[in-house]
Amino acid sequence: MPAALTAATAKRDYFKELGVRPFLNAAGTYTMLTASLMHPDCVAAYEYASRQFVRLNDLHDAVGKKLASLLHVDAAMVTSGAAGALVVGTAACVAGKNPEWIRRIPDIAGTGMKSEVIIQKSHRYGYDHAVRNCGIKFVEVETAGEMERACNANTAMALFFNANNNVGQIKDQQFVEICKKHGVPSFNDAAADALPVENLWKWSKMGFDLVTFSGGKGLRGPQSAGLLLGRADLIEAARANSSPNGDTIGRGLKVNKEELLGMMAAIEAYVKMDHAAEFKEWEKRCKLVQDSVSSIPSIQMTVDVPEIANRTPHLHLKWDTSKVKITVREVIEKLRSGDPAIEVTPSRPDELVMNFWMLQPGEAQVVAKRVREILKAASA
Ligand SMILES: *Cc1c(COP(=O)(O)O)cnc(C)c1O
Repeated sequence: MPAALTAATAKRDYFKELGVRPFLNAAGTYTMLTASLMHPDCVAAYEYASRQFVRLNDLHDAVGKKLASLLHVDAAMVTSGAAGALVVGTAACVAGKNPEWIRRIPDIAGTGMKSEVIIQKSHRYGYDHAVRNCGIKFVEVETAGEMERACNANTAMALFFNANNNVGQIKDQQFVEICKKHGVPSFNDAAADALPVENLWKWSKMGFDLVTFSGGKGLRGPQSAGLLLGRADLIEAARANSSPNGDTIGRGLKVNKEELLGMMAAIEAYVKMDHAAEFKEWEKRCKLVQDSVSSIPSIQMTVDVPEIANRTPHLHLKWDTSKVKITVREVIEKLRSGDPAIEVTPSRPDELVMNFWMLQPGEAQVVAKRVREILKAASA
């Protein structure tokens, strides 16, 4: 990029010009809150990619190969987020590489395409809309026996929602075994489960035919990118059902060279970074906030680290509103409208929840001070 252009763009404060306020992110990786900040290596790769043309499929092939090797899986592709991966992964299981079938999705009735996707009742969730985009019907099961009986010649795939592993009766390992026994492709949505780092290949090694991760959450790739990992034939079919191919269900889910290189650079950084040191830093930030509010009357603090999904310290604060005369909702509003603005984790109305992994260096101190000021003013 010409130096003059860099200087000119750096001088502009676009958010200010537009009247859109940035905030300190003590919330987490929420799409609505723009999720994560791209890793600097990702930004550099993204910018590099923006300056030259390449043949898109050549880059898709090369990046896919590189990602597969970094992540110890058979094959990989960059998708438009985990939700995009759910669409094109399902299309791969339904239409394969059959050009006529690829064109027909989502009108799959009467075509010979398999149209059923097995899912545990307790694994139904908002993101399963992405799978339904392909025209399939979900067949809900609860027990292993029901799942065995549900497998038939019309079964295209079985979908597993990783974060609900402990909720459903059929756990990941058994789910894979049943799928293998009946020759049904299995797909695990582990979008927010990229910690610890070994999780990136854990479920492929377990035997899931497809696994997806969100690229723009903890992985800090482009927010509009994701990963689809798995069996080489299915990844090839998913590519066939994707952009740049027109007349496919995936055409509207395109990624360009910037997302491809950005995602690759983010993964390179992610697999070699010191995750233990980073976790310690999150704990340090959490402790900072705890220390700063510890003298607030009636304050109750708990810290939890979810076993699955966003495995990072979450701080929960509660207080007696007869001693600290402010509601959680009012605190959230004050944090949001303050300067700088701060967003916290959406939660139940009776507790203030924060986490610290999306804060930038020095910001935890600001969050700690603001939370203390607000609670202290209300307890006077
Ligand atoms: C965030 C999320 C998705 C969607 O991921 P995107 O990368 O935003 O498309 C899908 N499934 C689960 C379980 C998620 O947490």
